Amino acid sequence: MALEIKQRIARGESISSRTRSPFGHRMRQSLSNMMGDGFVMPRMDRLATLYLGYPMKRLFNLNDAGHIPILMYHSVSDNMFGKKHPYYQINTSPRIFARQMKWLHEANYQTLTVAQLRDAIDKGAVPPKTVVITFDDGYRDFYTDAFSAMRRYGYTATIYLATGRIQDTPARIDGADYLTWNEVAELHREGIEFGSHTVSHPDLRSLGPDEIDYELCFSKETIEDHLGAPVRSFAYPFAFPGEDRSFVRFLEDQLKSYGFESGVSTILGRAEINDTRFFLPRLPVNSWDDYALFRAKLGGGYDWLQWPQWLHKYVHHNVSLMQRSAAELK
Ligand SMILES: [Zn+2]
Repeated sequence: MALEIKQRIARGESISSRTRSPFGHRMRQSLSNMMGDGFVMPRMDRLATLYLGYPMKRLFNLNDAGHIPILMYHSVSDNMFGKKHPYYQINTSPRIFARQMKWLHEANYQTLTVAQLRDAIDKGAVPPKTVVITFDDGYRDFYTDAFSAMRRYGYTATIYLATGRIQDTPARIDGADYLTWNEVAELHREGIEFGSHTVSHPDLRSLGPDEIDYELCFSKETIEDHLGAPVRSFAYPFAFPGEDRSFVRFLEDQLKSYGFESGVSTILGRAEINDTRFFLPRLPVNSWDDYALFRAKLGGGYDWLQWPQWLHKYVHHNVSLMQRSAAELK
């Protein structure tokens, strides 16, 4: 069996599905039945959060100190990006976004950027009622639709740019406009933090070490050249491969060596002060986050999803390109 796996790796084939034990296969089947082909079926995340996760959290008041909600937004628009299921949608309509900012304000939340949160954690002084608001990819609707709703309450944010999409005039890709460098500079002067989200938004696990270097380093340098200020934070594109420990360690070393100090990922849940420096968990938010779900997420009701998410990744794990290359060298 081991020889067969090596041969398959050498041919560049995935070993994720065909070499699973019958137990792994059964577990994958039942997970898929339970959660749909992607991840979560008919809003099981919502039901379990509202009727189980959040009530339990409130009942036992479990570990609330030292937990910081980091919200993950993408586009503030009515553009559905062809995504039908509420769990996968990455847009928040401007009207609903304004309402969510108002809820934060009414609940007395104050914002920090990711770099400011890092500093506060290092000093052991994260203020209570801190929320961090992040935006991935660099959609132009932050400038046209989101920022005014935030500025009303003095809120700040961290925007992670895929720098290949940021141009001198708005780039339109798949029906969405991206920020221009002038808009990025203007927002930076208003106190918005900009971080790296790679150059071309690739699945980093499908790249070799040189290409990974380029994606991390060149995006950081490009933003720094335009802003004349250091880029301190990084957001991992796509689903974070937390189950692949050697890859995560490699990435951590690279980020450190390029001078990054903080970062976020798509791991679900609120961040904790002891979490890994570069891959803090976040709470995805979109148009479907009404008051009940939004409040439950902020209060820790969504944190339980970290475990089924991890199990799903573990079961569906594929080897990375670097692992395949290493196996070929043996
Ligand atoms: Zn992204």
